[in-house]
Formats: sequence, structure tokens, C-alpha cells
Amino acid sequence: MVDLIGQYQEIKNEVKERFEEILDTAMFINGPAVKQFERNLSQYLSVDHTIACANGTDALQIALMALGLKPGDEVIVPAFTYVATTEVIALLGLTPVMVDVDPKTFNTTADLIKPLITEKTKAIVPVHLFGQCSEMAPIMALAQNHHLYVIEDNAQAIGADYSGGASSQKAGTIGHIGTTSFFPAKNLGCYGDGGAIFTNDDDLNQKIRMVANHGQSKRYHHAVVGVNSRLDSLQAAVLDIKLKYLDDYAKARNIVASKYDDAFENIEELSTPVRSKNSTHVFHQYTLKMTNGRRDEMIQYLNAQDIPCGIYYPIPLYKQGAFEKYVDSSFELPVTEELCKSVFSLPIHTEMTDEIQDYIIHHVKIFCNS
Ligand SMILES: *Cc1c(COP(=O)(O)O)cnc(C)c1O
Repeated sequence: MVDLIGQYQEIKNEVKERFEEILDTAMFINGPAVKQFERNLSQYLSVDHTIACANGTDALQIALMALGLKPGDEVIVPAFTYVATTEVIALLGLTPVMVDVDPKTFNTTADLIKPLITEKTKAIVPVHLFGQCSEMAPIMALAQNHHLYVIEDNAQAIGADYSGGASSQKAGTIGHIGTTSFFPAKNLGCYGDGGAIFTNDDDLNQKIRMVANHGQSKRYHHAVVGVNSRLDSLQAAVLDIKLKYLDDYAKARNIVASKYDDAFENIEELSTPVRSKNSTHVFHQYTLKMTNGRRDEMIQYLNAQDIPCGIYYPIPLYKQGAFEKYVDSSFELPVTEELCKSVFSLPIHTEMTDEIQDYIIHHVKIFCNS
């Protein structure tokens, strides 16, 4: 699905140089490389604070912990997302309230969220799925009216520009807190695990840093129960190098996406990804809908041609054993149901050659004509 080896070849010398510096100084943890990356990422995103941590799941958990929510508090979260988003809510004893998504953008909306708000609701966690920012302005307005926190799960849309507000903002910097993941296959990926948390709120910044560092207010003083979640210097160095190319990476992904669009737009049983009105797309995934019920056959056919493809996501989260206690057995969200049955994602990355993409397109077309 991604070509991490090809991408590495392009930045090999820079990476080796930075690694050597770190190896020579042995500042693996809390070294200057992490601070430098946090500063550069804050600047890129135009956000006041970036707090690096161990992975994207931790980032979500720490964000929720910093808000001081209590067991039983309700957190509204899309049912069509990666498990991590919902998992951390349940892990902290909070109650996930699952909301449907828009059939075109795959993101949830203020209109879908609004009827689910109760007096127990404390936060909303919109997910910017596949590379586009959710329609945030109405979500923020709704949250403000009901005094709710908004945590953006931005693991898939780092670098996307949202233009629905008064001025253009980067995805992940609009809510009270934003989170991301630097898992290798993400748009900004390191060579192991990593994550980060963003906020413009000085008070939340302090709480987040404290929670991520054993709840420590100053050395050996632990004001709250926290966790140990750090990004290490080697990962920070890789990310700092790749950050310089993040916009170029997004451009390369968009070129691949446009070529897929052109190839598939006249195929009746395929719906190509719809571009949101107010967000650029960074194409973490190129996700099609197969509307004639033959999605699983398509996957089998493509796999048989050595074409990897993914289903993000095959099972609604309310149908997972981990979360079934939060819903009635008959609970269903219509769009999530439809998407889990019809979506599939084709390889998209920064090193895609015309030859490989032509091969993929050729076989998608062959299957559709069969
Ligand atoms: C990848 C991802 C995460 C989790 O990130 P990890 O670094 O793997 O913990 C959370 N939410 C979404 C939407 C993701 O895609």
C-alpha cells in the first residue's frame, strides 16, 4: 500500500547524518532533536503548542486525560474510524456515543452529532478520515453552544488546510486539542512509533505535558496520575527531515489520486472520492465505493494480481465485542453499515510510478468489465 523503502532512498543521506549526530551524543530521550521537531511542527501548523508522544493512540488518551473527564461522561465519536479513537474513550471509563458519518466525505458532521448531545456529553472527537478535514466550523459552533470539548483525531489528515472558518487553518489545530500519529504508513511517518498532540491553550499544554510525563509537575512531584509517553530523538530526527517534504508528499499523492479519478469516473459501479468543499485532501487513503455488492470479489481479484488493497474499515465499531456493551444489539448506523460493505482503498503513496499505477487501473477496469 505504501513504498517506504523508495521514500527512504530519497532522504537517506540526511537521515544518516542526523542519526550519526544523535548516536554520537547518545541523547536518545529528551534530547534537543525532539524540541526542535516540536518547534518546527508547531510552526508548520501555526499552532502554539506541539507535544510529541509515543504514538497516536497515546496522543488521544493523553488528550482525554488532560480534560479531566469523569467516568460515565459521554464522548461522541464516529463509528466509522480506526479502533484507537473509540478504544481510549472506553479505556478511561468514559462512554463512547457512536455517531454516523456523511456518505460522501466519510467524516461526521454537526447535524449528525447534535441529536446525540445529552447533559452527560462532555466532548466530541471528530476524525479527519482518509486525508480531509471534517467540516469543523459547525462542529465548533455546536460545541461552544453546549460547552463541549473538541479533540480532533488528525492521524490521517496532517497538512490538510481547512477553509470553512474565518481564516484558513491546518487540520488538527481547530479544536481544543488535536492529535496525530507518526506510524510509518501515515502521511508523516517515522521509522517506528510516534505521535503528537496540538493545542493553542497554554493551560491545556501544561496539563498535557504533565500527563504524558507521569503526571509530574516538577521533578519527583506527581500532581496527577499520568502515563509515560515519549517520542525518542531518532524518530524526531526522521520526522523533522520528512516535515520539510510533507507538502511535496501531499502533491505527489494528489497526482496519483487525480489519475485514479480520471480512470474510474465513468465506471458506474465505482464512486471516486468526493472532495470536501472546505478542505484540501492529503490522500492518506484513496478510497472508492463499489456500489454493486462485488467489493469483496474485487479485493480477491486484485490480490490475485499481486495488487494490495485495504478495507478501511470492514466492521462498524458498534459491532465489535469491545464496544457492544455501549449499544443495543439492534443498534445500526445506516451510512456506516453501507460504507463497511462497499469501501476499498487502492495503493497510494509518494513513490508511485506510472507503470505500477497503470497496472492497477488496468486490473480494476478488467474486473469491472467482467
Ligand atoms: C493510525 C490511527 C490512530 C492510532 O495511531 P497509532 O500511532 O497507531 O497509535 C488513531 N486514529 C486514527 C484515525 C488512525 O488512523
